[in-house]
Amino acid sequence: MDDFVYCPQCAHELSRKYLFGRERQYCPDCGYIYFRDPKLAAGALIVHENKVLLIRRGVVPRIGYWALPSGFVEYDEQPRPALRREVAEETGLQVEIGRVVDVFALSDKRKQGVFLLFEATLVGGELQAGDDVSQARWFAREEIPWAELAFPQMRRWLETALQPSIGDTLKPRSDGK
Ligand SMILES: [Zn+2]
Repeated sequence: MDDFVYCPQCAHELSRKYLFGRERQYCPDCGYIYFRDPKLAAGALIVHENKVLLIRRGVVPRIGYWALPSGFVEYDEQPRPALRREVAEETGLQVEIGRVVDVFALSDKRKQGVFLLFEATLVGGELQAGDDVSQARWFAREEIPWAELAFPQMRRWLETALQPSIGDTLKPRSDGK
């Protein structure tokens, strides 16, 4: 599907032509070439006291499912400040964004692009469900609603980020030793 019918520079009707390695829309009048760029999104893996912060999505896609705080990077933003902004908007919390832990393809076929998953550290704020979110809360590993995760590719990172509770690892051995 094309984004444009008419040239965004001069309003002449666009044509298609093989240019720079693939077929692209271009303007036969002013020479404009449409390079369709991927969307960029970023998400935050925020772990505090061995709990992870999840939000319940209040918007499509995957409305009602649980996800990491995340959002699209605006044209004039860098990923880390964009993600700090999104976390604050969605959860009321202030975070510092750390290293990239993974890179995924965006799962929304209408918005193709790249999802950057960052580690983030809580530095302040007060937890509340904000923009586009119906709930925001901390989950211990055994509380995570695995069947209601919006994006299953997060599962591995949630399992990696959270230790099982002490009760699970230090259960007395059945032989009493
Ligand atoms: Zn044009």
